[in-house]
Amino acid sequence: MQDREAPVARTGMVAIIGRPNVGKSTLLNALVGERVSITSRRPQTTRERVLGVLTRGRRPAATQFIFVDTPGLQRGSRSLLAQRMNQSARAALAEVDVVVLVIDAHGWREDDEAVLELLPPDRPNIILALNKTDTLDRYEDVLPVLQDSARRYPFAAFVPVSAERRRQVDDLLAEIAKLLPEGEPLFDEDQYTDRNVRFLAAELVREKAFRLLGDELPFGIAVTIERWDETDSGVSIVAGLLVEREGHKGIVIGAQGAKLREIGRLARADISALLGKPVHLETWVRVRRGWTDDARALKSLGYE
Ligand code: GDP
Repeated sequence: MQDREAPVARTGMVAIIGRPNVGKSTLLNALVGERVSITSRRPQTTRERVLGVLTRGRRPAATQFIFVDTPGLQRGSRSLLAQRMNQSARAALAEVDVVVLVIDAHGWREDDEAVLELLPPDRPNIILALNKTDTLDRYEDVLPVLQDSARRYPFAAFVPVSAERRRQVDDLLAEIAKLLPEGEPLFDEDQYTDRNVRFLAAELVREKAFRLLGDELPFGIAVTIERWDETDSGVSIVAGLLVEREGHKGIVIGAQGAKLREIGRLARADISALLGKPVHLETWVRVRRGWTDDARALKSLGYE
């Protein structure tokens, strides 16, 4: 028999879903803090992308919340592609331990219903967050919305919050924690310091390159951090963008260097936000034959 007082560790994946503009990113930031709420990859072999990790308490009673992205959440479109994407969203939602559905505290809209339809019926792990309570005339105005919500789905909990004002965000965390399965933390608590921050910085550069080059980049690209000089006033970083062939170099650099400059500009802003200090970022495109083999090796280890 288990001792009632025995501390247990809880760890699990949490997805925050809801229609655009309802406040999901703001809520994620309120929950995990700006510092860690950028995209990174989980070193396990799941398809979810980790958006942020929050660890509360200490071992042996630590609670670790791993917030993940649900790819392909597409609403309102009836196309085959959208259907496929919804299928993958459903599959992803079935894999997470807790789903937080976010609606506006003013009440349900058609797009919210469409998101709700993606959820499997009668699941015990869905929490409803009613966001933007700060915009209600009176706080009590949320009461009829709660009643309406309870009729729509057997939610495990209803939590009115204001993500922007950081109100009742702890209540939401407490409700999530109750639904997390027992388990040891998957991420180190210092996951986001030093070496890892470098990794995240490289990821940010890579993400911008992908976004800006899109279809022009039929080949892969890797990013390495070549230099990292940190002082109290800022960080000076040199990042190398590795391509496989000489011919790919020009594509990444762009006319008069425009593409590379833009990649650097966007990445610099994000890295600076991540570190909370000014960043000087230099980017160089380098031809490094054979790196894709390394990439393949990494992929086989579960890194992508
Ligand atoms: P997402 O598209 O669901 O990720 O929504 P965002 O997090 O980007 O938020 C959409 C807009 O709603 C932004 O302008 C936020 O500042 C605003 N917002 C988010 N949460 C709150 C809140 O609690 N109160 C108020 N007043 N605005 C909020």
